[in-house]
Amino acid sequence: MKYIFVTGGVVSSLGKGLTAASIGALLECSGLRVAFKKFDPYLNVDPGTMSPFQHGEVYVLDDGAETDLDLGHYERFTHAELTKLSSCSSGRIYETILRRERAGDYLGGTVQVIPHVTDEIKCRFTTSDADADVTIIELGGTVGDMEGMPFLEAMRQFALEIGRSNTIFIHVVLLPYVRTADEIKTKPAQQSVALLLGLGIHPDILACRTERKMTDEVRAKLSLFCNVPIPGVIEELDVESIYEVPGMLHDEGVHHIVLEHFGLAVRNCDLSPWTDVVKKIRAPKKRVPIALVGKYVEHKDAYKSIHEALVHGAITNGLSLEVVRIDGEVAQQEDIRGLLRECSGIIVPGGFGNRGIEGILRAIGYAREQRLPFFGICLGMQLAVIEFARNVANLREANSTEFDEKTPYPVVSLLDEQRRAVDKGGTMRLGSYECHVAPNTHLQQAYGCEFIHERHRHRYEVNGAYRNIFTAHGLCISGTHASGLVEAIELPNHPWFVGIQAHPEFKSKPHMPHPLFKEFIRAADVYPC
Ligand code: GLN
Repeated sequence: MKYIFVTGGVVSSLGKGLTAASIGALLECSGLRVAFKKFDPYLNVDPGTMSPFQHGEVYVLDDGAETDLDLGHYERFTHAELTKLSSCSSGRIYETILRRERAGDYLGGTVQVIPHVTDEIKCRFTTSDADADVTIIELGGTVGDMEGMPFLEAMRQFALEIGRSNTIFIHVVLLPYVRTADEIKTKPAQQSVALLLGLGIHPDILACRTERKMTDEVRAKLSLFCNVPIPGVIEELDVESIYEVPGMLHDEGVHHIVLEHFGLAVRNCDLSPWTDVVKKIRAPKKRVPIALVGKYVEHKDAYKSIHEALVHGAITNGLSLEVVRIDGEVAQQEDIRGLLRECSGIIVPGGFGNRGIEGILRAIGYAREQRLPFFGICLGMQLAVIEFARNVANLREANSTEFDEKTPYPVVSLLDEQRRAVDKGGTMRLGSYECHVAPNTHLQQAYGCEFIHERHRHRYEVNGAYRNIFTAHGLCISGTHASGLVEAIELPNHPWFVGIQAHPEFKSKPHMPHPLFKEFIRAADVYPC
């Protein structure tokens, strides 16, 4: 197994995750099998309890692991199989060690960052897909952060132990452009590399994030002062679409450097899936305006996977996506018709807590009445059920017990066994579940099969006690779990009104768009705008 370590310098939010994912894509195009790992220095045990406002979306894997959104990039860009072992925080490392310490496993020894924490980290570098040729390991945060130190030390030791020819270090840095001097500056990158060198890590590749093209002079300067041969100084320009990054890194020859470093034969890299996608992105027939009505719309990364899945749906339909972000609270106060007038479809994503709920319900009611294509995901589906209960089935005060515990019509509620469970986290339905698809439905038309598997992350369920009332009023239950739980709903006499309890956005890739996103955008495309 070969290992690629990806670190970041100068500032955060450089797109390390995208760089790592794109390198994985290039290696896959060269016929290799890749695995990924993300290490995060924060003390939360996992991102499951972290606010989407602070940390962006929680990305869920098939096995139910709640992970960092960078894992979404890895899955969108490659076919790597990710599991709960693919993501690990300092909190998780310390939790493991402290449990062991309490159990007396250290036999009275002193438990220390070095060697115990670093050993535990090293151990986790190696637990991945045994069939992979290369494991790409990304470290969150920025080199120089105090909390990242044990990880960098573990990387240094690991490289020494398994041999430098089996490990490659890629450091992603920012080259700021200073307008008054009309120059790209290399000093912060140099200083960041100096920090790494001081920790005993010598970067083999310097991926330079820059808004302007680098001159040969800048490249030569970075090479000389960062001690990286010129071909290893890679330009990573700002691009319009993230799906241009694999092609850009290909042109910079990153895969060649990696394969040569590992002593692997340089193979033909078939980049066609990526060039096809980029070609479609650059030549859309027209734009498709979609309203994203939700709770965390002002935070760019809170609905990352939803956004990307919509982009994939647009690409496959030859369209360019325009997202109109509407906060639930705004939808509550303003004229809903005015807000949605320009939109060809409405998507309501997942969320927790009751802020903005009544506004989102208004938007859903508008979509139902105006025959505007609607796609409700998780909370979005639950709200579509509540809207239907109130305004079609005449259960006026229907609600979810998440928002109103005393509602006379708890059309969305916890299951009995969940109510008995005390630990909140423990009641969450997480990970992949099978769903039976009813024939002659939009769901069936999109997926084209009888059984589907999608990832879940929610506590509340559609209350089965109301099933007959709903169907009597014309709601179609198009997806059902073997236990009888409602997995998907739709309105038969509507061009496209679909709600799903799971999160299909986690399984969409640019060249394999998720069928529901593809069909939703197709319906929006033909909506008379
Ligand atoms: N808050 C809802 C629940 O827990 C929906 C969750 C979600 O949208 N992910 O069931």
